[in-house]
Parts: sequence; structure tokens; C-alpha cells
Amino acid sequence: MNKLKDKKLFLLDMDGTIYFENTLFPYALEFIDLLNNTKREYVFLTNNSSKSCKVYLDKLNKLGIKASMDNLFTSSLATIYYLNNIKKGATIYVVGTKALKEEFKESGFNVVEDIHHDIDFLVVGYDNELNYQKLVDAVHLLKRDVPFIATNPDLVYPAGKDLFYPDCGSFCHMLEVATGRKPFYLGKPRKEMIELILDKKGYRKEETILIGDRLYTDIACGINAGVTTALVLSGETNEEDLLTSPFKPDYVFDSIKDIYDIIK
Ligand SMILES: [Mg+2]
Repeated sequence: MNKLKDKKLFLLDMDGTIYFENTLFPYALEFIDLLNNTKREYVFLTNNSSKSCKVYLDKLNKLGIKASMDNLFTSSLATIYYLNNIKKGATIYVVGTKALKEEFKESGFNVVEDIHHDIDFLVVGYDNELNYQKLVDAVHLLKRDVPFIATNPDLVYPAGKDLFYPDCGSFCHMLEVATGRKPFYLGKPRKEMIELILDKKGYRKEETILIGDRLYTDIACGINAGVTTALVLSGETNEEDLLTSPFKPDYVFDSIKDIYDIIK
């Protein structure tokens, strides 16, 4: 592990790491500017598959952060890469938002709205437009032995102070209880989430650091991929969680400002 200052590629979680909802944390902007001015690269990672890439880029740009598709990698994109490798243009049924279905369609998948087709994959995402019919359809497909793919394992989505919404992992647990089938999860903490980026951008593991606020997705992902990890305590994790977690980050900081102070 080389020093923080020597890292060239910064993989950044968003919610809880650089902002909370629509408010940037202090020094988040200065931190990104510093990366830009010192020719370091950054990629924002998110497991949230309910929104399109465009929504994230708009949000980042509105907050004053320079970001293009080159700076973003989502669990939806990881799922698209993964399925494209198995079967290009596959027919899929998506338990997901309209935005997620659009992303699949734009990538050449045949997205169907009912189960009366030869379906190659059932894809479950963080569907905040979920209804009962989609769950019934998913159960039918799982009983038909259709491969079960999930964009991300997160159980909850942080929706506000002490407020959590059920996320993709919770939906999948429900389907698992109903059918006995377990999904193959993409997104963090799967190491492919990072390996795909290193491959695309041509960086080595040693040059890379992952910064995030959640142990079982962010930090676990960095550990699985063999890159340096830094936990920030500005989001979901407190020091007590850290003591009991099997996922131990290389560094722990109060916030992104501490990292800014070290690498500036
Ligand atoms: Mg987070």
C-alpha cells in the first residue's frame, strides 16, 4: 500500500461521502477541484439503480462538481456489462424503475413488460415504483428457473436522518423467501465494480483508493478488489459499527476534509 498522496485514481461513494441529499459536505468541492488540478482521476460509484446516469450527472453538475460519463459508474452499468458478456441483446424482465428499463433498452436489451415471452434474465433493481404485479411476475419467472440477477445488495436506502427505505436487497430477500431462489448480486461489494473501471481506465490496484461511508458495500468492495480503502464517518457508519464489522478499512476519517488536508 503506497501513501494516500500517491494515489492516482479515486473511487468515490456519493451519498454520505461527498454530500447528504442535496448538500455538499464542507471541502467536497475543494477536494474534487484538487483532484482535477493535480491530474488525479475520480469516478463516482453508486449502487442506486433507481435513477439514470443522466440524473446523477445533472445532480453533480448542479452541485458544482465537474463530472461526465467518464466519472460515473453505477450498479446498473455493472449489470449491463455483466449481462452483455453472457448474452448480447438478451430478453429481460426488469423489476425496476422506468429509468432503469430505459438504460437497458438503450444498451440493446429487449425489455419485456409481461412474462409471456422466452425470458433470459430476471433483473431486480432498487425499484421505488414497485407494485404487486411485478413481484408476482418475478415469482413466476423464478419458478420457471429464469436466472435471477440483482443490481445491488443494499438492504436499505438512506432517505433522511434515521429514515430508511427498503432497497433492492430487501426485495430480493422477500423473493428468496417466496421461492427459495437467491440472486446473483452486482454493484458494490462485488469486485467487478472496481475491476471494470481499472480495466477501462488503465490504472493498477496500488494506484487506486476507494472512499466511502458504508462498510458492507463500499469498504467491502475495495477489500474484495484489493485496493486501498478509506472510511468516512460522515454517513451511515459510526465508530461502534466499525469495531464489530468484519470489514476493516485501511484508513478512517471523520470526513472528506481530512483527506483533502492530507493530499493537498
Ligand atoms: Mg454512501
